[in-house]
Amino acid sequence: MQTRDYQRRDRAHHLHPFTDSKALGEEGSRIIERAEGAYIFDSEGNRLLDGMAGLWCVNLGYGRRELVEAARDQLERLPYYNTFFKTTHPPAVRLAETLCRLAPAHVNHVFFTGSGSEANDTVLRMVRRYWALKGRPEKQWIIGRENAYHGSTLAGMSLGGMAPMHAQGGPCVPGIAHVRQPYWFGEGRDRDPEAFGRECAAALEEKILELGEDKVAAFIAEPVQGAGGAIIPPASYWPAVKAVLAKYDILLVVDEVICGFGRLGEWFGCVHYGLEPDLMPIAKGLSSGYLPIGGVLVGDRVAETLVEEGGEFFHGFTYSGHPACAAVALKNLELMETEGVVERVRDDLGPYLARRWAELAEHPLVGEARSLGLVGALELIDPATGERFPKALGVGNLCRDASFASGLVMRSVGDTMIISPPLVITREQIDDLVDKARAALDTTAARLADQPSKAREETLS
Ligand SMILES: *Cc1c(COP(=O)(O)O)cnc(C)c1O
Repeated sequence: MQTRDYQRRDRAHHLHPFTDSKALGEEGSRIIERAEGAYIFDSEGNRLLDGMAGLWCVNLGYGRRELVEAARDQLERLPYYNTFFKTTHPPAVRLAETLCRLAPAHVNHVFFTGSGSEANDTVLRMVRRYWALKGRPEKQWIIGRENAYHGSTLAGMSLGGMAPMHAQGGPCVPGIAHVRQPYWFGEGRDRDPEAFGRECAAALEEKILELGEDKVAAFIAEPVQGAGGAIIPPASYWPAVKAVLAKYDILLVVDEVICGFGRLGEWFGCVHYGLEPDLMPIAKGLSSGYLPIGGVLVGDRVAETLVEEGGEFFHGFTYSGHPACAAVALKNLELMETEGVVERVRDDLGPYLARRWAELAEHPLVGEARSLGLVGALELIDPATGERFPKALGVGNLCRDASFASGLVMRSVGDTMIISPPLVITREQIDDLVDKARAALDTTAARLADQPSKAREETLS
């Protein structure tokens, strides 16, 4: 009763992000009412293991009283004040200091935003401002990657490489180019993975030369692509990219919105790959998603120029460093440190997930099972051919629905199934996650076997 009532009212007035509203209206949205630890509960009384940590963000899990109390205490003391006009407040100061202590040694400044998208808008402006201050205003081009995700504002979507997003509401921000992604399973399976990784880095160098080596300002990338399909680059990729960027004096922007704060078993994804980014957009796990906050960590090279030579930077948001959001983020980082969350992902949970997740590669529907830290993916293939299913079959969606039915939130990106569970998940819960993922694969295989010819005929017609 209540479910249908909410669905009706939701359909009537609520336009959802990244959603076909008409299709959702026909199906009805799932209503999530509460959550605890690694589990969410819907209005039908179903308990689901949240294999996506919300949207890659609820790293400490749900129901953490300490985070709730940090928000309440700060809201009572000072619910809002800005950081624009020669003012600051204790939570912003303490969070900035803590972030810079946790970040790599050459990173000692942070600019606060309300989200990851706003962080990438800030990146775009900072990069161009930096080169202008350096007397090189012709350095304008920023190179991103196909199928990358950097947010949904105009700058975020332009820096990102999601073709369906570029196709709507364009033109994109000018001066942004894209190069191929290091997606071995999707685009390089006929080649040696390490050779493929080097080819992708070589494509970056070709693009730089094409645009003009003195016209390229920065390269932006996620250490591991998240929304694109939990794409873990071959080991050869990042060292080769690093060498290319050094050769042409190009800034490196590492988008840490997903990989930051322990996801890959280090405080930041760049540490895992031995990178020294000039700028690091952050958000999501910064506050475990309890309140919205993002920012850009700024390396010394850029910060010194902006501070010493820049004068006023005409940029900022009403909620830059919002006191309650900052207080929650600060408490979140404090809990992560005292509970050794990052070390546990690196030394115990990450390797354990890798072992258990790899077992799923034996399933006939799975062409590859990969993971790093607590992010993982399964590539679904047709066992009859060893190739992808026809797109229109929507096998990924089938598997996602089967996963929900088996009690696990697993997301699909095309026919790639992805997980990114809370970092506080236990070994037992990882076992449960793998069992449920396997059940989802079995259900998907059974559905395809039920009516393979019919479904395929429909696809072909
Ligand atoms: C989610 C995401 C963003 C955008 O963050 P929002 O808070 O949704 O604006 C940017 N970059 C990456 C890598 C992301 O995953």
